[in-house]
Amino acid sequence: MLVDKHGRLADRLRIGLTDRCDLRCTYCMPLHGNVFAPKSDLLSNDEIVRVADFLVKRTGVSRIRLTGGEPLLHPGIEDLVRDLATLDIEDLALTTNAQLLADHAEGLARAGLRRVNISLDTLRPERFDAMARVGRLERTLEGIEAAVEAGLGPVKLNCVVMRGDNDDEVGDLVRYALDRDLELRFLELMSIGEAAAFHSEKYVTSEETRERLAREFAMEDRPFEAGETAHVFGIRNGTRAGSVGFISPVSKPFCTSCRRLRLSGTGVLRGCLMNAAGPDVRAIIRSGDADWEDQLARTVLTAINQKPWLSKMETQVAMHRLGG
Ligand code: SAM
Ligand code: SF4
Repeated sequence: MLVDKHGRLADRLRIGLTDRCDLRCTYCMPLHGNVFAPKSDLLSNDEIVRVADFLVKRTGVSRIRLTGGEPLLHPGIEDLVRDLATLDIEDLALTTNAQLLADHAEGLARAGLRRVNISLDTLRPERFDAMARVGRLERTLEGIEAAVEAGLGPVKLNCVVMRGDNDDEVGDLVRYALDRDLELRFLELMSIGEAAAFHSEKYVTSEETRERLAREFAMEDRPFEAGETAHVFGIRNGTRAGSVGFISPVSKPFCTSCRRLRLSGTGVLRGCLMNAAGPDVRAIIRSGDADWEDQLARTVLTAINQKPWLSKMETQVAMHRLGG
């Protein structure tokens, strides 16, 4: 079991499969002028499975999440899930904008995916057009229904709250989630890449969102679980009861109990989302060296020792390249 110099486990692996995306969320990607990694720089399915297998067997990774960019744009996503599902892990999940999920939900579930988190910032088509700028809200909503039908639950919804864009809509999102028995989590806007330019203007604390919801719904604090990122509250709307989570990387960073390790699509291993750089896993597995496993073991140690005890939560690297 791998533990960093501060005693934190690193047993949760997030794999950013690609830096490409079929949306252009204002807080994540510019509308034009994106330069993506050449396809030959991206890890192949076989390479991803080799690294994941190594991390599961040698460093104790027990949960894997596929993300991006948009992971459903990754060619052979269902084959990759099928291979990763054979590893000895407790959880295999995927974070998606769900534009393509209606086409993939059943296949992914059959391949062994356990569950999905779906990004949903608004229920209003005109706001979706303003916030995501490409794609269609309807497709995300169809993707949510398809995920539920395919048994990819508990389906969690992620909403980034932005002042003037969707902060007045949090109650409608709670009602939507409660009606479908979904867990909704509100994320604080992070000053990453694109969002740095308007962070101070658009940032809303989780506390403000919670107070706004408490004026409309009965809410009950649940104990914060170490290693988790969301602070969960029970929430009730008449006879409908469920839970809502608040992810507060800016106002209440969870660095000191963070158990994550991140592998980017191009093979950069990061202990922390905010590490601008990290060791290059791709070079090692493409080297053909007989001692690649020893090299990889050293690399993992480098990555986790680059992980700060408390991050400043700011980086110039774009979120879609980091694997949010
Ligand atoms: N494309 C997929 C999606 O949107 O779900 C997966 C990748 S996306 C980078 C992962 C998560 O990061 C999404 O829930 C998105 O809302 C969140 N995210 C992106 N930029 C962010 C920012 N500046 N602050 C907070 N969350 C952000
Ligand atoms: Fe794409 Fe996800 Fe970034 Fe939106 S948040 S642009 S869906 S990678």
